[in-house]
Amino acid sequence: MAGLACAIRLNAVGIRVGIYEKSRGPGGRMASKRVDGDARTLDMGAQYFTIRNTRFRRFLESYAGFDTFAAWSGRLLHEADDGGLEAFTVQQRFVGAPRMSAITRALSRHIPVEYGVQAERLEHDEDGWRILAQGGHRIGPYDALVLTPPPAQSNCLLHGFPELQKELEGYSMLPCMAVAACFSEPLDLDFQGVQLVQHPVLRWAGLDSSKPGREEGVEWWVLHADPYWSLSQLDKPEDEVSDALVEAFRERFSLKAVVAERHIHRWRYAIPETEVGPGHLWYPKVNLGLCGDWLSGGRVEGAFDSAESLLAHLRSDDRLGFSLP
Ligand SMILES: Cc1cc2nc3c(=O)[nH]c(=O)nc-3n(C[C@H](O)[C@H](O)[C@H](O)COP(=O)(O)OP(=O)(O)OC[C@H]3O[C@@H](n4cnc5c(N)ncnc54)[C@H](O)[C@@H]3O)c2cc1C
Repeated sequence: MAGLACAIRLNAVGIRVGIYEKSRGPGGRMASKRVDGDARTLDMGAQYFTIRNTRFRRFLESYAGFDTFAAWSGRLLHEADDGGLEAFTVQQRFVGAPRMSAITRALSRHIPVEYGVQAERLEHDEDGWRILAQGGHRIGPYDALVLTPPPAQSNCLLHGFPELQKELEGYSMLPCMAVAACFSEPLDLDFQGVQLVQHPVLRWAGLDSSKPGREEGVEWWVLHADPYWSLSQLDKPEDEVSDALVEAFRERFSLKAVVAERHIHRWRYAIPETEVGPGHLWYPKVNLGLCGDWLSGGRVEGAFDSAESLLAHLRSDDRLGFSLP
């Protein structure tokens, strides 16, 4: 989201941009996974998002399109301090439709994106920036570079820039083990999403098939683990982690149904450890910017806000000489 938001807005004012993405698709942590022989997709990362910033809504409507996102009216609960479940705070929550990655897929059509390009190293000289990608691919030069991977991954690219690396060491992300589970029968729970705060293992359970535009039929639940528990599981076998997370869900809600099929995704860098950030980072001497959710409060909307923050800074820099709408 941060990379697409940034590139689309720069492209709109006539700046030539290119996005280089290591994965096969544009979702990042808004990714969706295909299951059932590609007949169904499940949101393994971001479960929903807010639109508090009207510029974010305008951006989505203009570039992703009205039909790529919709409000999720599922009954969402939150665990109170006494362990009871209460209604989540009242606010609209949105999801991509028919899957979370529909948004980033639509956004990516506005700019050239090269997939399967894993940046390994960066070079900067009088010509500008070059990206050295896996497989010996050399990209550039570009006058300016914006990095949007999480801080640890951005840091790996910045060998040769020890001052920048030192600054990035101040930011850290926690992991999240995510399991999508299809049960042998409908669970008959009276909610479509629940956020726990006290459980040692389970943090979130959401009924993916209750989101707008999803394929009907069997129930698929997406389970997210507590970040510190996830940290303790990084080296454990996938089956062990999946079993523990599913068991935590079954035990917490006294479920009798067993799991018929499940898939795991380990998010190594899922959520920022702290929610406070400067919005973006910009190093004018070398025309290098960094943006992403980790610099602007986490979350999907934070990723957009971070791109906005960087763009506002660039707009105010006379040296660069361009204006953004
Ligand atoms: C399990 C989970 C649950 C979440 N739940 C919610 C939620 O309910 N609501 C919400 O608002 N947010 C949620 N989030 C957070 C939300 O997904 C993120 O805030 C948002 O997607 C971050 O966008 P971004 O552009 O900053 O970063 P990313 O989406 O991480 O984008 C960074 C991109 O950089 C690419 N990349 C990394 N390294 C390289 C490299 N070397 N070369 C090339 N490309 C590279 C990655 O593949 C990725 O596509 C959740 C995240 C996770 C993981």
